[in-house]
Amino acid sequence: MNPSAHETNEEPIVLLIDDSIDVHRLLAARLRNEPLVLMSAESGAEGLRLARELIPATVLLDLDMPEVDGFEVLRGLKDDPATADIPVVVLSGLTASQDKVTAFDLGAIDYITKPFDITELRVRVRSALRMHNLVQMLAQRAQIDGLSGLWNRAYFDHRWEEETAAVARHGRPLTIALIDLDHFKSINDTYGHPAGDTVIQGLAAIVGEETRASDICCRYGGEEFAIIMPDTAPTDGVMLCERIRQSLKAKQWARHPNRQVTGSFGVVGVSEGGNVNISKEEWLEKVDQNLYKAKKNGRDRVEVTDLSGAPVRLADTG
Ligand SMILES: [Mg+2]
Repeated sequence: MNPSAHETNEEPIVLLIDDSIDVHRLLAARLRNEPLVLMSAESGAEGLRLARELIPATVLLDLDMPEVDGFEVLRGLKDDPATADIPVVVLSGLTASQDKVTAFDLGAIDYITKPFDITELRVRVRSALRMHNLVQMLAQRAQIDGLSGLWNRAYFDHRWEEETAAVARHGRPLTIALIDLDHFKSINDTYGHPAGDTVIQGLAAIVGEETRASDICCRYGGEEFAIIMPDTAPTDGVMLCERIRQSLKAKQWARHPNRQVTGSFGVVGVSEGGNVNISKEEWLEKVDQNLYKAKKNGRDRVEVTDLSGAPVRLADTG
């Protein structure tokens, strides 16, 4: 998965938490033509539960509810890191101005006054959804490598931990590849750093084209890339890396048409039910060793290990 493929066209979920069935009916009718999915909770407790389960793009929150009231829901949402960034729009009566102030203090971003003005309602919901998109985008930007447009190292570390944990828990296949550009320093030294940057971007583009939506493509360090391939056995991971290796080798570079660029690949993975029990660090050490082996064996090649012990058929290296 590339960061750019991360955006979705799915309609955002708006969760309405209100104890009045009339309000649910009214808003369902009024927001029917908006590009959103309206979900309903008729109590504060249910609202909190649903918010944690659905992580909606916006919460519309009634303040005046029996038992768990809106203020308590708001505190609950803001105290939980999983729901803290969801924009909350408070639904409040005309006269309750102190309530609005308190709600803002607790982290609400806006309010809609009952009885609802239909235009105002739509505009404020849209604006909350826009804020949600911005927050999402900013959070995502912090995880993207500026030069390559791939995920950065911080994101890699986070996903690597998740994916190796999933393997340990469920015995799912997993493969990881480390790619290192061959003689990258000499490209920089000979053609200048802008040429080196273009090569980084060129490889990133090839990685983006050859990988699937489920693959997690990262810039690992200077001229090193990492691809995490969940639910992928090493045999398939190698095929994918072979495609990248060949595309890279075949690529013509405008700044140095007579100079090919190649990469070395270290691949390590586990097949279905492989049942490996090594730490995420040990796993990375093994990938590193295979990368080193690829360098030592002449570069422009893929070296692979299946941790479950099965032999991996290497595709023809042409
Ligand atoms: Mg109420």
